[in-house]
Amino acid sequence: MKQLLQENKLTLLYILIAYTFSVAMRFIWVYQFKDYAPFHFNGEFMINTNDGYYWAEGARDILAGFHQPNDGSPIESAPSLLTAFFAKYLPFKFETVIFYMPVFLSSLVVIPIILISKTLKNLEMGLIASLLAGIAWSYYNRTMAGYYDTDMLNIVLPMFLLWSIIWAVSTHKNIYLLITAVDILIYRWWYPQSYSLEVAFFGLILLYTLVFDRKNLFHYKLLAIMMFAMMNGDGYIRLVLVIVSFVLFSNKKFDKYVFYILGVSIFAFLITGGINPIWYQIKGYLFRESISEGSSALGLHFFTVMQTVREAGHISFETFANRISGNIITFVVSLIGYIYLVYRHKIMIFSLPLVGLGFVAYIGGLRFTVYAVPILAMGIAFLIVQVAQKMPTKKLQYLSAVTFTLLILLPNYFHIQGYKVPTVFNADEVKVLADLHKKTQREDYVIGWWDYGFPIRYYADVKTLADGAQHSGDRNFPISYILTKPQAQAVKMARLDVEYQERAFENNVSGTVIERMMKDYGFDDANDFLLTLETEIKLPKKTRDIYVYLPYRMLNIYPTVTLFSNLDLMTGEAKKRPFFYISRGFKDLGEKIVMGNGISLNKNNSTLSVGNKTVPIRRFVKTAYQADGKLRVQSQFISFAADLNVIYMSNYHTFLIVDEQTYNSTYMQLFVLENYDKSLYEKVIVTPSVKVYKLKI
Ligand code: MN
Repeated sequence: MKQLLQENKLTLLYILIAYTFSVAMRFIWVYQFKDYAPFHFNGEFMINTNDGYYWAEGARDILAGFHQPNDGSPIESAPSLLTAFFAKYLPFKFETVIFYMPVFLSSLVVIPIILISKTLKNLEMGLIASLLAGIAWSYYNRTMAGYYDTDMLNIVLPMFLLWSIIWAVSTHKNIYLLITAVDILIYRWWYPQSYSLEVAFFGLILLYTLVFDRKNLFHYKLLAIMMFAMMNGDGYIRLVLVIVSFVLFSNKKFDKYVFYILGVSIFAFLITGGINPIWYQIKGYLFRESISEGSSALGLHFFTVMQTVREAGHISFETFANRISGNIITFVVSLIGYIYLVYRHKIMIFSLPLVGLGFVAYIGGLRFTVYAVPILAMGIAFLIVQVAQKMPTKKLQYLSAVTFTLLILLPNYFHIQGYKVPTVFNADEVKVLADLHKKTQREDYVIGWWDYGFPIRYYADVKTLADGAQHSGDRNFPISYILTKPQAQAVKMARLDVEYQERAFENNVSGTVIERMMKDYGFDDANDFLLTLETEIKLPKKTRDIYVYLPYRMLNIYPTVTLFSNLDLMTGEAKKRPFFYISRGFKDLGEKIVMGNGISLNKNNSTLSVGNKTVPIRRFVKTAYQADGKLRVQSQFISFAADLNVIYMSNYHTFLIVDEQTYNSTYMQLFVLENYDKSLYEKVIVTPSVKVYKLKI
């Protein structure tokens, strides 16, 4: 009894140590940037993950008690609900809550690790493993301060699930039936994509039961209650089914019905389409090509974001190992340790789904590595404890354990110290959005590239056409068109896109926005339809105001933005790439300015050298902010025959070399030159970092 009490006290102590350590390491970033104004807004740090603004929008609207129909606010999502709950009952302001939630929630991962180790009678392994797991490279990256996204509980919840499965199988206590099922319910609520992992756990338990413990009724109870928790459908219905089956399973009288209940649960799982999401996921990951071509009913071909997203790419073994353990050697030893751990403690076989999913990263992309982090940390911690136990004296045991633990922590500490990720937006940009919020109605649209959709909606509370979740090729096409085509066409497309988007909410329509426009205007050929935008056409009735959001940071992705509309929609073929070159690291050598990549500007005869070719310049333009904050644009025409323009944005230390097509784009004209057509646009907010214009039509 006394020993048990001692053990519980030690467990608690280890949890406290590991938790505090994990939290403290996340304050390194906070400390590094505490005085850096561009990362702060409204007296608090801003978050550093784009998707976080989505959950923040939902939480903000939950607290406000209202939102606009079809504004995309996720007021029913678990992250938004939990955030609103914290923001309401904790004595901190909203910005503080969302910034620090990942710090305090993700660090909870140490608890299941230590509890599992307790079952294995190896608390020291638990302490060492949880110290590493809490701060290991990829886990840190996805749960650091400000990384406000589902990741903050995405490993914590399945680790608790693993813990309860291990305790259920090893103790056969009924209470773990309930805990396992409830954990699945919470995990699903938090992260609906949790399906595949749940199914993997289920399959493994089934296999374990059939191979090792076929006669034990408890396992079938566990499988049945998991099935009820995992089936599709309303969470409350599933909770009721879980509770009912728990009550039945807790009563010996009903033991003879266990197999019937299991049958019912499997039937319920299948009939509610429980298997479908798994199938979709497998299709999504394995046959990525088949969904990357965005085509439509009229046979239009759009460019897709998949082709530009880095995350989906392959990773090297070194990156893979670093992200799981912080270091290649640590990773390899961890893997050996893990195999040894499973060999010595068969029950650890239930951790296979997590390790397996983590290893999917090797083919499926970076984001999966986190799943393997805590389990492999247990692998190396197990070895460290084993080695320590071989030491002849207590002192040496302690010394070796501490030394090896420090060695595995160190690479991750260095990673954290060097991982100085910026916030999503800087303070200047957010000030513009907060200002815009005062000038707009909530039903107005702010058109910007999809990367800015969530933050725009969070700070300005308006509607957007695209965001981090809505960025299919057909959504991006009109936006890319608006930003990269001349002003006269762009405004028409903007009005069309907004009104057609709104109409789609009113009526149940099918087909992409472009297709519906083509149909209404009587075109079968997308190219013909787009040509009419250069003429006077009758536009839909204006129902609201439209703003265009043009940040300086978009200059870096301008070529990517063009890709989405610079193609023939009928064939999917890309058109000739417009010329766009940006130089910030240029050098003035007196006679010429060298801009890198073999490009230089010859001052004497106003020509460009590209490689060993000399080409004439059409215009030389210099922009500079004056003392009163107004932009002054000096333009010098040099050669009418030439196509390339040189723009020197003096305050930004930026040179642009763009062809005439790019020069005439709405983005270049409105952001870089502030040369807007006063019959089409109205200046709303112009700052060096963001310019916002309002449509006059
Ligand atoms: Mn809204």
